[in-house]
Amino acid sequence: MSFGNKDAVRDIRSTIQSMMPNARQELSHLVSFQSVAGNNQFPTEESAKAAEWILTACRELGLNEGGLYPAADGTSLVIASRQAPPGAPTVLLYSHYDVQPPLDAAAWHTPPFTLTERDNRWYGRGTADCKGGVMMNLLALRALGRHPNIGITMVVEGSEELGSPGLVRFVRDNPDLVRADAILICDGGNAAVGQPTLTTSLRGNIHALVTVRALQAQVHSGMFGGAAPDPLAALTKMLAGLWDKAGNVTIRGLDNAGIWEGAEYPTDRFRREAGVLADVDLLGDNIANQVWARPSLTILGIDCPSVQESVPVIQAQVRARLGLRVPPGIKSDFAYQALADQLTLDAPWNVRVEVEHEASGQPFTATQGGPAYAAMQAAMRAAYGTETVTQGQGASIPVCTVFAEQFPDAEIMLMGLCEPEAMIHAPNESLDPTELENMAVAEALFLASYGHSR
Ligand SMILES: [Zn+2]
Repeated sequence: MSFGNKDAVRDIRSTIQSMMPNARQELSHLVSFQSVAGNNQFPTEESAKAAEWILTACRELGLNEGGLYPAADGTSLVIASRQAPPGAPTVLLYSHYDVQPPLDAAAWHTPPFTLTERDNRWYGRGTADCKGGVMMNLLALRALGRHPNIGITMVVEGSEELGSPGLVRFVRDNPDLVRADAILICDGGNAAVGQPTLTTSLRGNIHALVTVRALQAQVHSGMFGGAAPDPLAALTKMLAGLWDKAGNVTIRGLDNAGIWEGAEYPTDRFRREAGVLADVDLLGDNIANQVWARPSLTILGIDCPSVQESVPVIQAQVRARLGLRVPPGIKSDFAYQALADQLTLDAPWNVRVEVEHEASGQPFTATQGGPAYAAMQAAMRAAYGTETVTQGQGASIPVCTVFAEQFPDAEIMLMGLCEPEAMIHAPNESLDPTELENMAVAEALFLASYGHSR
Protein backbone atom coordinates (compact mmCIF):
# COMPACT_ATOMS: atom_id res chain seq x y z
CA MET A 1 0.00 0.00 0.00
CA SER A 2 1.20 3.53 -0.64
CA PHE A 3 -0.21 6.98 -0.39
CA GLY A 4 -0.39 7.83 -4.08
CA ASN A 5 -2.43 10.88 -3.30
CA LYS A 6 0.28 13.25 -2.10
CA ASP A 7 -2.36 15.93 -1.55
CA ALA A 8 -4.03 13.81 1.12
CA VAL A 9 -0.72 13.52 2.98
CA ARG A 10 -0.07 17.25 2.62
CA ASP A 11 -3.59 18.12 3.83
CA ILE A 12 -3.31 15.97 6.93
CA ARG A 13 0.13 17.38 7.71
CA SER A 14 -0.92 21.00 7.36
CA THR A 15 -4.04 20.35 9.46
CA ILE A 16 -1.92 18.82 12.23
CA GLN A 17 0.69 21.58 11.97
CA SER A 18 -2.02 24.18 12.46
CA MET A 19 -3.14 22.29 15.59
CA MET A 20 0.31 22.11 17.19
CA PRO A 21 0.22 25.41 19.18
CA ASN A 22 -3.07 24.37 20.74
CA ALA A 23 -1.76 20.85 21.34
CA ARG A 24 1.14 22.33 23.28
CA GLN A 25 -1.27 24.29 25.47
CA GLU A 26 -3.36 21.22 26.11
CA LEU A 27 -0.35 19.04 26.84
CA SER A 28 0.88 21.68 29.33
CA HIS A 29 -2.46 21.39 31.06
CA LEU A 30 -2.32 17.58 31.12
CA VAL A 31 1.27 17.64 32.42
CA SER A 32 0.21 19.96 35.26
CA PHE A 33 -1.94 17.18 36.78
CA GLN A 34 0.31 15.30 39.19
CA SER A 35 -1.29 12.00 38.21
CA VAL A 36 1.09 9.59 39.92
CA ALA A 37 -0.89 6.45 40.81
CA GLY A 38 -0.57 4.51 44.07
CA ASN A 39 1.66 7.04 45.82
CA ASN A 40 0.48 8.82 48.97
CA GLN A 41 2.45 11.93 48.12
CA PHE A 42 0.16 12.58 45.17
CA PRO A 43 -3.56 13.08 45.82
CA THR A 44 -5.89 10.87 43.79
CA GLU A 45 -7.86 13.96 42.67
CA GLU A 46 -4.96 14.77 40.36
CA SER A 47 -5.57 11.48 38.52
CA ALA A 48 -9.33 12.07 38.52
CA LYS A 49 -8.85 15.51 36.93
CA ALA A 50 -6.66 14.06 34.19
CA ALA A 51 -9.22 11.34 33.44
CA GLU A 52 -12.05 13.86 33.22
CA TRP A 53 -10.08 16.19 30.98
CA ILE A 54 -9.38 13.32 28.57
CA LEU A 55 -12.98 12.12 28.53
CA THR A 56 -14.16 15.65 27.68
CA ALA A 57 -11.65 15.83 24.81
CA CYS A 58 -12.94 12.46 23.51
CA ARG A 59 -16.57 13.58 23.71
CA GLU A 60 -15.72 16.67 21.65
CA LEU A 61 -14.50 14.27 18.97
CA GLY A 62 -17.80 12.45 18.85
CA LEU A 63 -16.62 9.43 20.86
CA ASN A 64 -19.94 9.38 22.66
CA GLU A 65 -20.11 5.85 24.01
CA GLY A 66 -18.40 4.59 27.15
CA GLY A 67 -17.26 6.88 29.93
CA LEU A 68 -15.17 6.73 33.11
CA TYR A 69 -14.98 3.26 34.65
CA PRO A 70 -13.67 2.64 38.16
CA ALA A 71 -10.83 0.15 37.82
CA ALA A 72 -10.32 -2.51 40.49
CA ASP A 73 -7.15 -0.71 41.62
CA GLY A 74 -9.00 2.51 42.51
CA THR A 75 -8.07 4.57 39.44
CA SER A 76 -10.43 5.56 36.62
CA LEU A 77 -10.30 4.12 33.15
CA VAL A 78 -11.30 6.33 30.27
CA ILE A 79 -13.08 4.32 27.58
CA ALA A 80 -14.64 6.46 24.88
CA SER A 81 -15.79 5.00 21.61
CA ARG A 82 -17.72 5.34 18.44
CA GLN A 83 -19.14 2.24 16.74
CA ALA A 84 -17.86 1.17 13.37
CA PRO A 85 -20.24 1.46 10.44
CA PRO A 86 -21.35 -2.03 9.27
CA GLY A 87 -18.48 -4.00 7.79
CA ALA A 88 -15.82 -1.48 8.84
CA PRO A 89 -13.01 -2.29 11.27
CA THR A 90 -12.57 -0.93 14.78
CA VAL A 91 -9.27 0.47 16.01
CA LEU A 92 -8.41 0.70 19.69
CA LEU A 93 -6.06 3.53 20.69
CA TYR A 94 -4.35 2.84 23.99
CA SER A 95 -2.41 5.31 26.13
CA HIS A 96 -2.13 6.14 29.84
CA TYR A 97 -2.39 9.33 31.88
CA ASP A 98 -0.55 8.20 35.00
CA VAL A 99 3.11 9.09 35.26
CA GLN A 100 6.18 8.06 37.20
CA PRO A 101 6.94 10.23 40.23
CA PRO A 102 9.59 12.90 39.50
CA LEU A 103 12.10 10.89 41.60
CA ASP A 104 15.15 13.03 42.33
CA ALA A 105 13.56 16.52 42.35
CA ALA A 106 16.96 18.20 42.50
CA ALA A 107 18.07 16.51 39.29
CA TRP A 108 15.36 18.26 37.25
CA HIS A 109 16.51 21.36 35.36
CA THR A 110 12.89 22.52 34.97
CA PRO A 111 9.83 22.00 37.22
CA PRO A 112 8.63 18.42 36.54
CA PHE A 113 4.93 19.26 36.30
CA THR A 114 5.34 22.39 34.16
CA LEU A 115 5.84 21.84 30.45
CA THR A 116 8.95 23.88 29.59
CA GLU A 117 10.56 24.31 26.18
CA ARG A 118 14.33 24.07 25.96
CA ASP A 119 16.45 23.37 22.88
CA ASN A 120 13.37 22.48 20.86
CA ARG A 121 12.18 19.84 23.30
CA TRP A 122 9.26 19.98 25.73
CA TYR A 123 10.39 19.00 29.21
CA GLY A 124 8.11 17.70 31.93
CA ARG A 125 7.03 14.44 33.57
CA GLY A 126 4.75 12.53 31.22
CA THR A 127 5.42 14.70 28.14
CA ALA A 128 6.49 11.54 26.29
CA ASP A 129 5.30 8.74 28.61
CA CYS A 130 2.44 8.90 27.99
CA LYS A 131 0.48 12.16 28.05
CA GLY A 132 2.13 12.99 24.74
CA GLY A 133 0.66 9.69 23.52
CA VAL A 134 -2.81 10.85 24.61
CA MET A 135 -2.22 14.08 22.66
CA MET A 136 -0.99 12.17 19.62
CA ASN A 137 -4.21 10.15 19.52
CA LEU A 138 -6.36 13.27 19.91
CA LEU A 139 -4.45 15.07 17.14
CA ALA A 140 -4.79 12.15 14.74
CA LEU A 141 -8.53 11.88 15.38
CA ARG A 142 -9.06 15.63 15.08
CA ALA A 143 -7.20 15.72 11.79
CA LEU A 144 -9.57 13.09 10.42
CA GLY A 145 -12.67 14.97 11.48
CA ARG A 146 -15.73 12.83 12.08
CA HIS A 147 -14.39 10.12 9.84
CA PRO A 148 -17.26 7.78 9.06
CA ASN A 149 -15.41 4.69 7.87
CA ILE A 150 -13.98 3.29 11.05
CA GLY A 151 -14.85 2.42 14.64
CA ILE A 152 -12.69 4.02 17.33
CA THR A 153 -12.19 3.05 20.96
CA MET A 154 -9.92 5.29 23.04
CA VAL A 155 -8.63 3.52 26.14
CA VAL A 156 -6.64 5.66 28.57
CA GLU A 157 -5.71 4.08 31.87
CA GLY A 158 -4.44 5.54 35.13
CA SER A 159 -2.15 2.86 36.54
CA GLU A 160 0.16 1.68 33.77
CA GLU A 161 3.25 2.48 35.82
CA LEU A 162 1.97 0.04 38.45
CA GLY A 163 1.64 -2.75 35.88
CA SER A 164 -1.95 -2.03 34.72
CA PRO A 165 -3.68 -4.19 37.34
CA GLY A 166 -6.97 -2.34 36.83
CA LEU A 167 -7.00 -2.44 33.04
CA VAL A 168 -5.92 -6.08 32.84
CA ARG A 169 -8.86 -7.09 35.03
CA PHE A 170 -11.25 -4.80 33.13
CA VAL A 171 -10.28 -6.25 29.74
CA ARG A 172 -10.83 -9.79 31.03
CA ASP A 173 -14.19 -8.89 32.58
CA ASN A 174 -15.51 -6.65 29.78
CA PRO A 175 -14.01 -7.84 26.49
CA ASP A 176 -16.94 -6.50 24.47
CA LEU A 177 -16.24 -2.92 25.53
CA VAL A 178 -12.71 -3.01 24.10
CA ARG A 179 -12.96 -5.47 21.21
CA ALA A 180 -11.06 -4.26 18.15
CA ASP A 181 -9.51 -5.42 14.88
CA ALA A 182 -6.36 -3.36 15.33
CA ILE A 183 -4.90 -2.18 18.64
CA LEU A 184 -2.37 0.64 18.76
CA ILE A 185 -0.46 0.61 22.02
CA CYS A 186 0.78 4.21 21.91
CA ASP A 187 3.27 3.78 24.73
CA GLY A 188 6.34 2.81 22.74
CA GLY A 189 8.68 4.92 20.69
CA ASN A 190 10.93 5.20 17.68
CA ALA A 191 14.45 3.76 17.69
CA ALA A 192 15.67 7.34 17.16
CA VAL A 193 14.07 10.71 16.40
CA GLY A 194 12.99 10.65 12.76
CA GLN A 195 13.24 6.85 12.39
CA PRO A 196 9.73 5.35 12.33
CA THR A 197 9.72 2.16 14.35
CA LEU A 198 7.31 -0.54 15.41
CA THR A 199 8.13 -2.51 18.53
CA THR A 200 7.28 -6.08 17.68
CA SER A 201 8.55 -8.16 20.56
CA LEU A 202 8.46 -7.96 24.35
CA ARG A 203 10.02 -10.34 26.83
CA GLY A 204 7.93 -12.11 29.43
CA ASN A 205 8.72 -11.68 33.10
CA ILE A 206 8.98 -14.31 35.85
CA HIS A 207 9.60 -13.90 39.56
CA ALA A 208 10.91 -16.82 41.58
CA LEU A 209 11.61 -16.93 45.31
CA VAL A 210 14.29 -19.40 46.39
CA THR A 211 14.79 -20.34 50.04
CA VAL A 212 17.84 -22.28 51.26
CA ARG A 213 17.92 -23.95 54.70
CA ALA A 214 20.64 -25.97 56.38
CA LEU A 215 20.53 -25.50 60.17
CA GLN A 216 17.85 -25.50 62.85
CA ALA A 217 19.03 -22.11 64.07
CA GLN A 218 21.92 -19.67 63.67
CA VAL A 219 25.21 -20.92 65.11
CA HIS A 220 28.53 -19.30 65.99
CA SER A 221 30.83 -19.23 62.98
CA GLY A 222 33.91 -19.75 65.14
CA MET A 223 32.68 -22.84 66.91
CA PHE A 224 30.89 -24.49 63.96
CA GLY A 225 32.21 -22.83 60.80
CA GLY A 226 34.20 -25.20 58.61
CA ALA A 227 31.88 -28.15 58.99
CA ALA A 228 28.44 -26.53 59.33
CA PRO A 229 27.02 -25.70 55.87
CA ASP A 230 26.43 -21.97 55.31
CA PRO A 231 23.11 -21.48 53.44
CA LEU A 232 24.29 -18.12 52.12
CA ALA A 233 27.41 -19.68 50.64
CA ALA A 234 25.23 -22.43 49.14
CA LEU A 235 22.88 -19.86 47.64
CA THR A 236 25.70 -17.82 46.09
CA LYS A 237 27.15 -21.00 44.52
CA MET A 238 23.72 -21.88 43.10
CA LEU A 239 23.27 -18.38 41.71
CA ALA A 240 26.78 -18.20 40.27
CA GLY A 241 26.01 -21.29 38.17
CA LEU A 242 23.27 -19.44 36.28
CA TRP A 243 25.70 -17.46 34.09
CA ASP A 244 28.73 -18.41 32.03
CA LYS A 245 31.97 -16.43 31.94
CA ALA A 246 30.71 -14.03 29.25
CA GLY A 247 27.54 -13.33 31.23
CA ASN A 248 25.15 -15.45 29.17
CA VAL A 249 22.34 -17.10 31.11
CA THR A 250 22.99 -20.84 31.32
CA ILE A 251 19.69 -22.26 32.48
CA ARG A 252 19.51 -25.77 31.01
CA GLY A 253 16.68 -26.17 28.55
CA LEU A 254 16.38 -22.45 27.77
CA ASP A 255 17.64 -21.34 24.39
CA ASN A 256 20.14 -18.57 25.01
CA ALA A 257 21.25 -18.16 21.40
CA GLY A 258 18.33 -16.16 19.97
CA ILE A 259 19.11 -13.72 17.16
CA TRP A 260 17.33 -10.36 16.80
CA GLU A 261 16.35 -9.75 13.16
CA GLY A 262 15.32 -6.08 13.40
CA ALA A 263 17.19 -2.86 14.19
CA GLU A 264 20.46 -2.99 16.13
CA TYR A 265 20.86 -1.43 19.56
CA PRO A 266 24.03 0.68 19.23
CA THR A 267 26.65 -0.04 21.90
CA ASP A 268 27.40 3.59 22.83
CA ARG A 269 23.71 4.36 23.20
CA PHE A 270 23.18 1.30 25.37
CA ARG A 271 26.16 2.13 27.60
CA ARG A 272 24.87 5.66 28.03
CA GLU A 273 21.26 4.70 28.68
CA ALA A 274 22.15 1.91 31.09
CA GLY A 275 24.83 4.03 32.78
CA VAL A 276 27.48 1.33 32.46
CA LEU A 277 30.78 2.48 34.00
CA ALA A 278 33.77 2.92 31.71
CA ASP A 279 35.78 -0.26 31.09
CA VAL A 280 33.10 -2.49 32.63
CA ASP A 281 32.15 -5.22 30.13
CA LEU A 282 28.73 -5.66 28.58
CA LEU A 283 27.35 -9.21 28.71
CA GLY A 284 27.13 -11.53 25.71
CA ASP A 285 28.08 -10.78 22.12
CA ASN A 286 25.38 -8.44 20.77
CA ILE A 287 23.12 -6.03 22.60
CA ALA A 288 19.93 -6.46 20.55
CA ASN A 289 20.23 -10.24 20.89
CA GLN A 290 20.85 -10.03 24.62
CA VAL A 291 17.98 -7.69 25.50
CA TRP A 292 15.32 -8.62 22.94
CA ALA A 293 15.93 -12.20 21.81
CA ARG A 294 17.44 -14.03 24.79
CA PRO A 295 16.63 -14.73 28.42
CA SER A 296 18.16 -12.56 31.12
CA LEU A 297 18.31 -13.07 34.84
CA THR A 298 18.54 -10.54 37.67
CA ILE A 299 19.01 -11.14 41.38
CA LEU A 300 16.36 -8.77 42.67
CA GLY A 301 17.00 -9.18 46.36
CA ILE A 302 18.58 -11.41 49.00
CA ASP A 303 17.35 -11.78 52.56
CA CYS A 304 20.38 -12.18 54.80
CA PRO A 305 21.91 -9.92 57.41
CA SER A 306 23.08 -6.55 56.11
CA VAL A 307 26.75 -5.73 56.54
CA GLN A 308 25.86 -3.33 59.30
CA GLU A 309 23.93 -5.94 61.24
CA SER A 310 26.28 -8.81 60.58
CA VAL A 311 27.83 -10.75 63.45
CA PRO A 312 29.98 -13.90 63.45
CA VAL A 313 27.19 -16.45 62.94
CA ILE A 314 26.17 -18.88 60.22
CA GLN A 315 22.60 -18.24 59.14
CA ALA A 316 19.98 -20.97 59.41
CA GLN A 317 18.22 -19.89 56.23
CA VAL A 318 18.46 -17.28 53.49
CA ARG A 319 16.37 -16.47 50.46
CA ALA A 320 16.59 -14.62 47.18
CA ARG A 321 14.11 -13.28 44.69
CA LEU A 322 15.08 -13.76 41.06
CA GLY A 323 13.69 -12.01 38.01
CA LEU A 324 13.88 -13.92 34.75
CA ARG A 325 13.01 -12.30 31.40
CA VAL A 326 12.20 -14.58 28.48
CA PRO A 327 11.86 -13.69 24.80
CA PRO A 328 9.04 -14.78 22.49
CA GLY A 329 9.35 -18.48 21.74
CA ILE A 330 9.88 -19.48 25.36
CA LYS A 331 6.80 -20.05 27.51
CA SER A 332 6.97 -18.44 30.94
CA ASP A 333 5.89 -21.57 32.84
CA PHE A 334 8.47 -23.68 31.06
CA ALA A 335 11.18 -21.13 31.83
CA TYR A 336 10.22 -20.98 35.49
CA GLN A 337 10.39 -24.77 35.76
CA ALA A 338 13.81 -24.88 34.09
CA LEU A 339 15.12 -22.30 36.56
CA ALA A 340 13.60 -24.07 39.57
CA ASP A 341 14.97 -27.46 38.46
CA GLN A 342 18.47 -26.12 37.98
CA LEU A 343 18.55 -24.36 41.35
CA THR A 344 17.34 -27.53 43.08
CA LEU A 345 19.68 -29.91 41.25
CA ASP A 346 22.76 -27.70 41.60
CA ALA A 347 22.36 -26.99 45.30
CA PRO A 348 25.53 -28.11 47.10
CA TRP A 349 25.80 -30.19 50.30
CA ASN A 350 22.19 -31.41 50.17
CA VAL A 351 20.93 -28.14 51.63
CA ARG A 352 17.13 -27.84 51.59
CA VAL A 353 15.91 -25.79 48.66
CA GLU A 354 12.41 -24.49 48.07
CA VAL A 355 11.50 -22.51 44.97
CA GLU A 356 8.25 -20.60 44.77
CA HIS A 357 6.69 -19.25 41.59
CA GLU A 358 5.55 -15.74 42.47
CA ALA A 359 4.37 -14.22 39.22
CA SER A 360 4.79 -14.44 35.50
CA GLY A 361 3.81 -12.68 32.32
CA GLN A 362 4.11 -14.26 28.88
CA PRO A 363 6.35 -12.80 26.18
CA PHE A 364 4.63 -11.00 23.32
CA THR A 365 5.21 -10.92 19.56
CA ALA A 366 3.24 -8.69 17.25
CA THR A 367 1.70 -10.44 14.27
CA GLN A 368 3.28 -8.89 11.21
CA GLY A 369 1.95 -9.04 7.70
CA GLY A 370 -1.74 -8.25 8.32
CA PRO A 371 -3.69 -5.37 6.73
CA ALA A 372 -3.27 -3.04 9.72
CA TYR A 373 0.46 -3.68 9.87
CA ALA A 374 0.80 -2.94 6.14
CA ALA A 375 -1.30 0.20 6.47
CA MET A 376 0.79 1.43 9.40
CA GLN A 377 4.09 0.78 7.61
CA ALA A 378 2.86 2.78 4.61
CA ALA A 379 1.52 5.57 6.82
CA MET A 380 4.80 5.87 8.72
CA ARG A 381 6.75 5.90 5.47
CA ALA A 382 4.54 8.68 4.12
CA ALA A 383 4.83 10.72 7.32
CA TYR A 384 8.59 10.35 7.78
CA GLY A 385 9.81 9.75 4.23
CA THR A 386 11.79 6.72 5.34
CA GLU A 387 11.19 2.99 5.86
CA THR A 388 9.91 1.63 9.16
CA VAL A 389 12.20 -0.59 11.23
CA THR A 390 11.32 -3.02 14.00
CA GLN A 391 12.78 -3.23 17.47
CA GLY A 392 12.15 -5.27 20.56
CA GLN A 393 11.75 -4.30 24.15
CA GLY A 394 13.32 -6.13 27.04
CA ALA A 395 10.54 -5.32 29.48
CA SER A 396 6.98 -6.62 29.55
CA ILE A 397 3.89 -4.49 28.97
CA PRO A 398 0.97 -6.27 30.63
CA VAL A 399 -1.62 -4.54 28.41
CA CYS A 400 -0.04 -6.05 25.28
CA THR A 401 -0.26 -9.49 26.81
CA VAL A 402 -3.85 -9.15 27.98
CA PHE A 403 -5.05 -7.80 24.63
CA ALA A 404 -3.20 -10.58 22.79
CA GLU A 405 -4.76 -13.19 25.08
CA GLN A 406 -8.32 -11.79 24.77
CA PHE A 407 -8.21 -10.94 21.06
CA PRO A 408 -5.86 -13.41 19.38
CA ASP A 409 -6.95 -12.25 15.92
CA ALA A 410 -6.40 -8.53 16.54
CA GLU A 411 -3.32 -6.88 15.06
CA ILE A 412 -1.47 -5.25 17.94
CA MET A 413 1.08 -2.53 17.20
CA LEU A 414 3.37 -0.84 19.69
CA MET A 415 4.55 2.67 18.82
CA GLY A 416 4.69 6.15 20.28
CA LEU A 417 6.81 9.08 21.39
CA CYS A 418 9.21 7.45 23.85
CA GLU A 419 12.34 7.57 21.69
CA PRO A 420 15.66 7.21 23.55
CA GLU A 421 16.26 10.95 24.07
CA ALA A 422 12.89 11.24 25.85
CA MET A 423 14.55 9.71 28.95
CA ILE A 424 11.22 8.40 30.21
CA HIS A 425 11.04 7.48 33.92
CA ALA A 426 14.23 9.51 34.55
CA PRO A 427 14.53 13.14 35.66
CA ASN A 428 14.26 15.61 32.77
CA GLU A 429 11.87 13.54 30.68
CA SER A 430 11.07 15.37 27.45
CA LEU A 431 9.18 15.17 24.18
CA ASP A 432 10.42 16.10 20.74
CA PRO A 433 7.48 18.03 19.22
CA THR A 434 8.51 16.95 15.71
CA GLU A 435 7.88 13.38 16.83
CA LEU A 436 4.46 14.35 18.13
CA GLU A 437 3.63 15.95 14.79
CA ASN A 438 5.05 13.17 12.60
CA MET A 439 3.54 10.36 14.64
CA ALA A 440 0.15 12.08 14.68
CA VAL A 441 0.38 12.44 10.87
CA ALA A 442 1.28 8.75 10.56
CA GLU A 443 -1.56 7.72 12.84
CA ALA A 444 -4.11 9.87 10.99
CA LEU A 445 -2.97 8.44 7.64
CA PHE A 446 -3.21 4.96 9.08
CA LEU A 447 -6.74 5.49 10.38
CA ALA A 448 -7.84 6.96 7.06
CA SER A 449 -6.39 4.16 4.94
CA TYR A 450 -7.09 1.18 7.20
CA GLY A 451 -10.81 1.99 7.16
CA HIS A 452 -10.79 1.61 3.39
CA SER A 453 -8.44 -1.34 3.23
CA ARG A 454 -10.94 -4.01 4.26
ZN1 LIG B 1 4.24 4.46 29.45
